[in-house]
This record gives sequence, C-alpha cells and structure tokens, in this order.
Amino acid sequence: MSATPVQAPDTIAALAAPLARRVAATSSPRSPQAHLIDGAPDTQLLIVNGTRLFSLPPALAAEFEAVLAAGDENSLTRLIATSGLEAPAAIDDQPLQPMPAHALSLAIAQKCNLGCGYCYAQQGGFGGAAKSMTLDTARAAIDLLLREAEPGGRVNLAFLGGEPLVNRKVLQQATDYAADRAAQRGVGIGFSMTTNGTLLTADDAEFFERHGFAITVSLDGDAENHDRLRPFKNGRGSYARIVERVAPLLARQQKMQVSARVTVTPSNIELPETLDLFVDMGFHSVGFSPLLRASNNQSELDGAGLTEMLEGMIACGLSFEQHVLRGRRYPFLNMVNAMRELHRGTHRPYPCGAGAGYFGVSADGDLSACHRFVGDEAGQFGTLTTGIDREKQAAWLGARHVHQQSPCSQCWARYLCGGGCHHEVLARGRSACDYIRGWLHYTIQAHGRLAQFAPDWFAGAAPIASPAAPPA
Ligand code: SF4
Ligand code: SF4
Repeated sequence: MSATPVQAPDTIAALAAPLARRVAATSSPRSPQAHLIDGAPDTQLLIVNGTRLFSLPPALAAEFEAVLAAGDENSLTRLIATSGLEAPAAIDDQPLQPMPAHALSLAIAQKCNLGCGYCYAQQGGFGGAAKSMTLDTARAAIDLLLREAEPGGRVNLAFLGGEPLVNRKVLQQATDYAADRAAQRGVGIGFSMTTNGTLLTADDAEFFERHGFAITVSLDGDAENHDRLRPFKNGRGSYARIVERVAPLLARQQKMQVSARVTVTPSNIELPETLDLFVDMGFHSVGFSPLLRASNNQSELDGAGLTEMLEGMIACGLSFEQHVLRGRRYPFLNMVNAMRELHRGTHRPYPCGAGAGYFGVSADGDLSACHRFVGDEAGQFGTLTTGIDREKQAAWLGARHVHQQSPCSQCWARYLCGGGCHHEVLARGRSACDYIRGWLHYTIQAHGRLAQFAPDWFAGAAPIASPAAPPA
C-alpha cells in the first residue's frame, strides 16, 4: 500500500469543485449501450449490458469516443463486437416472477414525538390517525416472513415508524418472538431499526446488542442544522438529546451497528463537515440521501441543490479515496456501497426490492411495496389476513421493470440505478437523473483508481454496510 499523504480538507474542496464540473459535463447519456469514463486513471469503458468495465488503450478509447460523440449506435455495436466485448443480454424484458417475502418493515408505531416538516410519514401518522401496531399484528407479519423461508435461508425484519421506540414493548416482544421462531425453523434473521434517537435508553443498548441490530439514527448535521430540520413537536431542538441518548449504543457496538443517516436539503448541504462530525462520534457508517420528495413540498433539492450536493459527495468520496490509500477506515456508506456494487458488477432491473421480496406492513396489518408506501394507494399489496396479492405483485413487477421506464431504457446508468426510487418517481417524476449519473460516473472513476492502487481493500478489508438494514 502506498503511503499517500491525506490531503487537507480545503485541498480536497479545491479538487472537488472542478472535478464535479467535469463529471457533470461528461456523465450525460449518449448511448444506451456504453459509457466512457476518463481519469480512472486510464479511460474506462462501461458496457451497460452486464455492467462490465474495461480499461482501454488510448487508441481504442479514441475510437469509442468518436462513435459515441457521433451518436452512431450501429457503429458502436460493431465496435463493441470487433473489440470482443459482445455478450448475451444479461437482463431481458421479463419481469421478476412473484416471490416470497424475505424482508419486512413493520410500521410498529405510526406516531412520532418529532415534527420534521419534510417527513414522508407526515410526522408518523402517514396522513391518518396516530396508531401503534399490536403484538398480534407483529406476530402475524413475522409468521408471514418465516412461513416461506427455506431452512438455511436468511430474512430481515426492520422496525420503522413514525418513531418505533414509541411502541418499545411490542418491538421487543416481536423481536424475541421472531428470533425464537427463526431459530426453530433454522432460518437466519437480521434485525434493523430506523429511529430518531430521542427515546433511546441504556437498556435499549443491551437489548439491541444482544440481537445484533443494525440501528440507523436520523441526524441532519450539526446542532444548528439538525435542530432546524428535526425539532420536537413543540419546536425545541432535538440534537443534544440524541447525542446524549445514542452514546451508550455507540459505546457498545459489537454485534450491533449504529449508523447515521443524513437527509440532505438545501439548508444542510455541508457534507464533508457532517461526514467527519459523525465519523468522529463513532458511528459505524454515515450515509447521505437527497430529499427529493417532502410531504410538505418544502426543502426538496432542485437542480441547483443537487449540483451542489454532487460536489459535496465528490469531496467526501475524494476523502474516502485518500483514507483507503492510507489503509485507514473511513465509513462513508454511499461510497462503500458504490465500490462494492461496481466491484461485483451489479446489474439489476429494479432500484430496490420493494414489492418484490420486500414489503412494508402498516400498524393495521396492510401490506405495501415498502415502508414509504404505507397508506399509499399506489403501492398496496393486500393484508396480513389475505396474504400478498400476487396479481398486484405481478403487475407491479411488470410495470416497474427499468425497461418499461422512460427515459431509463435509453440511459447508460439503468442497471446500476434501476430507474430511481419508485416512491419518489411516482410522486415527483425523475428529477435527480443528472445527480445519479454524476455520482455513478465519479464512483466508477474512483473504483478504477482504488482497484489499481489499493486492491487489498476489495478483498474484503473494509466491508461496513449493514446487511440487516432495510432498502432505503
Ligand atoms: S432514473 Fe436512473 S436509469 Fe432512469 S434515466 Fe434517471 S439515472 Fe437513468
Ligand atoms: S428505494 Fe424507494 S421504493 Fe425502494 S425501498 Fe427505498 S423508499 Fe421504497
């Protein structure tokens, strides 16, 4: 491993700005078949079919650049063939067949003690009355999850809300029940919870550690930013309380993993500072998500905000590269996940498992495509009593296939992106494509550099993603 000096933050910021501009200029779609990425350090060619990456010698890179610049798809097809890069289609138009659930999220409490304006769950109630899931409903959901699981297989059970700890007793009883039932059936089970962190106790730390939970705490930056975006219902800030309450969990991460998730709006876009703040606090990983759909239509990121976010993400990514080259752990979750997916050549016809093997369960026992579709007619799949509605599932999988999405079917990023979060797309359309492609373009560059200069990292030196966490 080369001993490359870590750049000072202001140096990284100075590198990130021009790099982000270049990435934005070179990541727009030119062909559904292929995409060129320079600066990696050689020019790389992404063959979209099968997500295959190749390092090109300069002369061949120039040939590909010429046909891509001309928009000549026939010549590109021939060049791919004559370069020996042709392969049978890895993904066809056939939708996934309806399958058993292997991950459920329980809206264990459709109520919350915070009053975040942007919340997709509308402060926990999903637009309806506040309610809590009963233990009987939670048990019925767990039975559904385990009924079809194969012995030796693995399932995931997530607790979300509202704020799940408002209904702590049922959460704990349901967890114990699921752990016992899974053990009886010889099925592995992972537990996760997304929490606002304000109700955590030292006893919770013991319970979550015992069950190996992946805990995600929603934190939107430093005290000033967080308190503005995530206040208590009475308007008081919640940051100091969360920092105090999460400390016992951060101190006990053996089987348990505690991560921070930052929702990025136009007013908390200082990503490198936020990343370092939470890494230094001892979170297992830190991830960022742009706010593309808010229930109050406010604080959503528009084009200019997403351009700014891309620059911040690239600055964080450059920091990550520097740390990896020094052999240091730097748990920037978006980057870790991107490196792993590129390395394994992930190609998928959907953005996530929603409505396929993953479902949300409302406090009343209704099944939905995922945790965000609770109470939303657009993504209902039956009830715990009637079971998963297989006709609706088949129709969903057919309609949501990335080949059926426009303009995704012509986009070079389609098998890495999958077409964008169904919930955001159905509500707002596709407003973040330039950001998505820019981030993918940069991460392919970074992957090329790290695969060449820090290959040990990809041998499993630093896996940090939480396997039990629900898709988000
Ligand atoms: S949603 Fe993803 S696949 Fe579809 S056009 Fe946008 S970036 Fe491309
Ligand atoms: S990406 Fe969107 S649709 Fe998929 S699980 Fe996450 S919130 Fe649901």
